[in-house]
Amino acid sequence: MDLDLKDKWIEIDVGKVLHNLNEVRNHLPAGVKLIAVIKADAYGHGAVKTAQLLTAKGVDFFAVTFLDEALEIRKAGIDAQIMIFSPLTEDEQYIKAIQNNITLTIASLKECHDLDLISRNLGKRVTIHLKVDTGLGRFGLNAQDAAQICQTLKENNYIYIEGVYTHMADAAMSEKYTARQFSAFLAVIEDLYKQGFEFPLKHCANSSVFLRCPNMYLDAVRIGTLLSGQNPAGNFNKKLNLQDPFKYKSRIIALRQLEKGSYLGYFRTYRLKQTAKVAVLPVGFADGLALGVQNPPTGFIDMIKLLIKQLLSYLGFRKYSLQVRIKGALYPIRGKVFMQNCLVEIPANVEVSVGEEVELPIRKTLAAKDTRYEYINETASFTEVQTYSLDKKASWEDC
Ligand SMILES: *Cc1c(COP(=O)(O)O)cnc(C)c1O
Repeated sequence: MDLDLKDKWIEIDVGKVLHNLNEVRNHLPAGVKLIAVIKADAYGHGAVKTAQLLTAKGVDFFAVTFLDEALEIRKAGIDAQIMIFSPLTEDEQYIKAIQNNITLTIASLKECHDLDLISRNLGKRVTIHLKVDTGLGRFGLNAQDAAQICQTLKENNYIYIEGVYTHMADAAMSEKYTARQFSAFLAVIEDLYKQGFEFPLKHCANSSVFLRCPNMYLDAVRIGTLLSGQNPAGNFNKKLNLQDPFKYKSRIIALRQLEKGSYLGYFRTYRLKQTAKVAVLPVGFADGLALGVQNPPTGFIDMIKLLIKQLLSYLGFRKYSLQVRIKGALYPIRGKVFMQNCLVEIPANVEVSVGEEVELPIRKTLAAKDTRYEYINETASFTEVQTYSLDKKASWEDC
């Protein structure tokens, strides 16, 4: 590994990653395949390392969003099946994908047409899953297009349609809408079946569906959030005992005692109410600190909620303000977060020094991409679940 002299890093507890895998498998009926979703650098845990850890425990099917994510994992020597969710647009992408044995999603007639030509020209086999849109409004086919694609590809011996899937929009909140999407999906499957098309892997369950709708597992589940140690937002049935493996860490790089009344940071937005130690950390918004996903409010109630959160943060309520952890205790970040620094107020009587380790509240998927990873607790032991099935995938010979 290259020498990294930065005073900040991401610590991943390998024991917790494997514990979460175990938890998911514990709730997975035998015969249902686990597709481990490791998109966006495995939700911030490091995609290659996560793939290596999970492969070592028997996971043999991964999914990511984009081709470059899949190729990075393949290049690292993982030969498990890797599927991408996102469509390809250029011939070169199809060629790269096929050469690297990446499983593709086909979600439009154009993609089908492109892949049909390219796979014949290359003379190399490719496995695909059809994506049906049942109400998310992202990628996907309708029933007619799905049937037409099956007819077209029937003539192409290089293409194996292994699966068909859809993605749920609102499983965490609305069982009714999810049931409607599920029926629509089953209708497409049945329609294709009647025309003579059947696939070994039919799937629609992400983490929310996994928790809320065991009747919708079908042949495989696509799990990301739960493996990353978090429950999906808005889900109230938290039956899994998950552990968050992710910690963003840094060190105090400067420390001074400042008098009561001193201003902290640009625009002097904070003034010390008592004499205190002020610690400088080498972490700012360029690292992902104090960043969040800012969607426009979805309605009036949502807007009021956002305003209340802002108000609570203004009033200094702990849960809504930024705090760091030093030697087990929480201390507030004061003033505006700088581009590459932030300031922490520590009471004058607390023993602390330059070099002290600090844990920061950086959202795992927003941490800067070049942050160093440190994997700890590699030899954690617990009883592994042995009942999961590895053999759901059909082979070329079966089709
Ligand atoms: C991200 C994603 C998943 C995984 O969802 P989680 O809720 O994180 O488990 C599954 N399927 C698709 C198509 C996705 O984009």
